[in-house]
Amino acid sequence: MIPARKPIIYIISAPSGSGKSTLVNELLKLVPNLDFSISYTTRAPRGSEQNGKEYYFVTRAEFERMIRADAFLEHANVFDKDLYGTARRFLKEAEQKVHDLLLDIDVQGAAQIKHKQPEAVSIFVLPPDRKTLEWRLRKRGEDAPDVIQRRLDKAGREIENYDKYNYILINDVLEKSIESLQDIVLAERFGGLGRPLTESEKQIVERAERCRLANLKDRLGPILESFRNPPPAAQ
Ligand code: ADP
Ligand code: 5GP
Repeated sequence: MIPARKPIIYIISAPSGSGKSTLVNELLKLVPNLDFSISYTTRAPRGSEQNGKEYYFVTRAEFERMIRADAFLEHANVFDKDLYGTARRFLKEAEQKVHDLLLDIDVQGAAQIKHKQPEAVSIFVLPPDRKTLEWRLRKRGEDAPDVIQRRLDKAGREIENYDKYNYILINDVLEKSIESLQDIVLAERFGGLGRPLTESEKQIVERAERCRLANLKDRLGPILESFRNPPPAAQ
């Protein structure tokens, strides 16, 4: 009997406004057999969000009932306000379908998953610098100026977790970032092929390797610096 293939868990985290949702949406169109884990949250839906599409929106009582029933692979209090969690059932369903699973979760959730499943593949999306992040948050037009300021401050703290991730994706030119993300996902799948790679597969692996944390150290310095020493807030 052929042993069941375990799904690869891909974790993607990023400070708000880095372009994570944009990248994830494009990735899901490009890569077959990759399921998105729809999280449960106690926060209220925003804009056009629909229950069961972006999130399952539940009450705190229901969320706590799920915690007691051990229904979550991980869960966290994000922004010290709302609860968010990844349901175990998505992993089980992916396993049955022989699919892989993509989790869009924060740094706390990523740490919990990596602790339980060290082989999970983690990707941290960074903006090219703080000024660009600020501009993208403004362009998105979803948040008031004080909320944008809070998101920027929080980004500065979140970014310091970059070195806990396997890959770093600096989201500068969108098309290139989508390609890099696809390369990472495919390269990780090649590990399970059990045969020598073709030339084009080897090129994908080579490109994915460029996003490895260890191979990016030089480019990260200026990005981190732009967050560590931001200009004073405009009056
Ligand atoms: P997140 O999910 O990380 O909060 P979004 O995907 O909502 O971020 O992106 C924030 C804004 O930046 C959106 O208006 C999006 O269209 C834009 N954006 C995303 N990636 C890029 C990029 N590489 N270049 C320019 N704009 C981008
Ligand atoms: P938002 O409310 O803006 O959609 O998401 C806020 C943050 O919560 C994002 O960083 C997102 O990645 C994170 N998040 C979404 N779902 C989960 C989850 O299931 N678990 C954890 N730990 N974080 C999540």
